[in-house]
Amino acid sequence: MNAPAAPHKLLKGSTGDWEMVIGLEVHAQVTSNAKLFSGASTAFGGEPNSHVSLVDAAMPGMLPVINEECVRQAVRTGLGLNAQINLRSVFDRKNYFYPDSPQGYQISQYKSPIVGEGEVVVELDGGKTATIGIERLHLEQDAGKLLHDQSPTMSYVDLNRCGVALMEIVSKPDIRDAEQAKAYVTKLRSILRYLGTCDGDMEKGSLRADVNVSVRKPGAPLGTRCEIKNMNSITFIGQAIEYEARRQIEILEDGGAIDQETRLYDPNKGETRSMRSKEEAHDYRYFPDPDLLPLEFSQSFVDELKAELPELPDQKKTRFVADLGLSAYDASVLVAERESAVFYETVLEKLANRARDGKVAANWVINELFGRLNKEGRDITDSPVDAAQLSGIIDLIGEGTISGKIAKDLFEIVWQEGGDPRALVESRGMKQVTDLSAIEKVVDDIIAANPDKAAQVKDKPQSLGWFVGQVMKASGGKANPQSVNELLKSKLGI
Ligand code: ADP
Ligand code: MG
Repeated sequence: MNAPAAPHKLLKGSTGDWEMVIGLEVHAQVTSNAKLFSGASTAFGGEPNSHVSLVDAAMPGMLPVINEECVRQAVRTGLGLNAQINLRSVFDRKNYFYPDSPQGYQISQYKSPIVGEGEVVVELDGGKTATIGIERLHLEQDAGKLLHDQSPTMSYVDLNRCGVALMEIVSKPDIRDAEQAKAYVTKLRSILRYLGTCDGDMEKGSLRADVNVSVRKPGAPLGTRCEIKNMNSITFIGQAIEYEARRQIEILEDGGAIDQETRLYDPNKGETRSMRSKEEAHDYRYFPDPDLLPLEFSQSFVDELKAELPELPDQKKTRFVADLGLSAYDASVLVAERESAVFYETVLEKLANRARDGKVAANWVINELFGRLNKEGRDITDSPVDAAQLSGIIDLIGEGTISGKIAKDLFEIVWQEGGDPRALVESRGMKQVTDLSAIEKVVDDIIAANPDKAAQVKDKPQSLGWFVGQVMKASGGKANPQSVNELLKSKLGI
């Protein structure tokens, strides 16, 4: 069954509306200490060529040995994408020569990948979702890196990345606009990070995408696509799609045809340009790698990995909505990054009354904490207010010791100076006043000074709010608003 199409953007041309069709091939570096077929380290940022084994350098007679951890990681990822796990898969040689790949071929998986069809649910604006199909996930080797800027006459090669395990995750052409494409990469990255199978660091190149774009009249058959290579920024992916789709529409509306080609996005100019056409495409002469047996494992190997999977963002979101009564939107904000979800759950654990204050805690994390962190460009992992302090503040509100307004002042103090919220409330006299005898005189004065308003209040109940505001102000925000309300009602005779 096909899910109903999610809302998406159409582009206007001179001949009417056009629909974008997008499919992504995401390369995700597998989190593993060693490379896919050698014991060399995968650590980032080592001295050039310091993490290179004889296998990675393709010395004659060297044989690849599969790293079981990379296989486990690929299977775990497949499970996290609700995908078919293939108990038998095959490593092939993809033949091409490039100086950053001393083997003269890349070991990849072609016809028989380790993971088959799956799906990813992506979050769109306004709480909507779209389901994007996964075509396959296969394991392959990364290449080394050429350095052209070290010498005026020579190029250097750094093989540290050579042989590092990548998962290529291929989507179906189910994505319909730039927003969905960005949401897809965001969600995929989040799932990988929850699973711990890829660190998702796009700046370091741990996650990059080839973006296939075509356009068509809504409902028409698929058009010819162009592939934009090697994108490592979610923002640029969105920009490249918009540019590329408009470029294709212009050609088609001028009566031209799209050449299937590989293009590059230039973020400075905001445009894509041709890299090579399909005619120049390589013939990779794929064949099974004779040095590697087919990869086979048992269903129980898969079942054990499945049993150990962590809770993933979709499950967490469902649980937050069902158990704590959060809105779907708040729940998706909290689960989007693993670190944020961990922070919120730590606050929950520490709360004195989780059922009463779980929702309040979500508001505080999303509005006060994230708001403050964003303002200072800081990450949740280096928040000056930790989970114990925030739960302390929320306990104080929940039990009626401080008002929500005082809590914001307290939050600011904890942010600036640190300290235990309860002790701060004691030492700085921030406690909420529930016994109003202390400010009864103030209340009387305010009523006496405003006889008109006091006379109106019976017919205009909303002006009670004005009185509450005045009393709260006079108490420095420390009076308990509910007690103030009751006191005023009795004094004003309503
Ligand atoms: P290749 O390996 O030659 O790049 P694939 O068939 O594996 O070709 O497709 C690569 C990607 O292109 C997939 O993500 C797929 O969804 C996407 N794709 C295929 N056809 C189209 C199309 N007409 N428009 C946009 N994307 C497409
Ligand atoms: Mg491709």
